[in-house]
Amino acid sequence: MTSAGRKRPRSDSATDACSELSDEPEPHTDNTEPAEQPLTRDDEFWIEDGNIVLGVEDIAFRVHKSTLSRNSGVFCDMLAVPQPKDAETCEGVPIVHLSDRADDVREVLRALYECHTYLGTGRLPFLKAAALIRLGHKYHMERIRDAALDRLKTCFPAQLLQWEAIIENSGSNEMEFDADPTYGIVVVNLARLTDTPSLLPIGLYLCCLLDMDDLVDGCHYEDGSFDQLDSEDLKRCVAGKSHLMYLRGLSIYRVFRNSVSSNCFNKQTCSATLETLLPKARKAYAAINGTAVLEPASNGAIMTLSAADVLISLMIHVNGTPGRICIHCHEMLEQRDRGRRNVVWKELPKLMQL
Ligand SMILES: [Zn+2]
Repeated sequence: MTSAGRKRPRSDSATDACSELSDEPEPHTDNTEPAEQPLTRDDEFWIEDGNIVLGVEDIAFRVHKSTLSRNSGVFCDMLAVPQPKDAETCEGVPIVHLSDRADDVREVLRALYECHTYLGTGRLPFLKAAALIRLGHKYHMERIRDAALDRLKTCFPAQLLQWEAIIENSGSNEMEFDADPTYGIVVVNLARLTDTPSLLPIGLYLCCLLDMDDLVDGCHYEDGSFDQLDSEDLKRCVAGKSHLMYLRGLSIYRVFRNSVSSNCFNKQTCSATLETLLPKARKAYAAINGTAVLEPASNGAIMTLSAADVLISLMIHVNGTPGRICIHCHEMLEQRDRGRRNVVWKELPKLMQL
């Protein structure tokens, strides 16, 4: 995990970070290096009676020491140390520079100053929850970290049926989560950071849905920072992708094999239909596996699926092809499909070498 934040060098003499931003002790030097950008007051957190400024990227947050200290063990220790007379200031207020993302710090401040409305109700967007967990962990703000982590856990259930509901509803009642595979990387890193193994099977599974370039490149943010998997989790995903692709092929055969229901109304017709479904499903699989490059992208549903995604119903792959098949055979296909996906779901921890 990397942050785009930067640490500014300490000055040898008193400096005001908001009015004279150069940390060079001799302003008349011939040094032609450009001065650093002045800090800009944050629109939301520049509290006039605040007694500490947090300098984050090029943003200045003016807040209260007491609020930070009461909620954060790290700030409590940091701010308890007496500041030297020549300590850097911002508009006359002592400043502490943080190497985080300004957007993330703003989320934490919202959680601190507006805790009842911010963490009390409503669905928290995933990336905001991720920021609260990351910074809550870093600055020992357990209340904020745990509240956000509890919400995150609601989107990583133990049962496949619950996971399907998460997909369908783009999250739980507590958190917005659209299961973007790139977020799998963020989830895995949060699981590692907070020692929350329950997030790993689905987190790594989502990572496996990424193509190899995106998997290696990681999740990039607008400010240029990014999350990447560590080498061990990357290896898990490379092996996991291979296992999942194999299982997908196996599932296609197991679901669409030509064997009609024992209650079938019309064995001859249903058998003929099933005979056509298996090659169609295989063809669809070949198309999304990237090998059938000459195939037209005629089926939008197919093209949105990854070859590794074995938890989404295989029935999607025979869009508009139920043909003449009796209700019992149709139910049989659905049961096979669900059964296979449950098998994969239960094997996820093993597949991901957890
Ligand atoms: Zn039938």
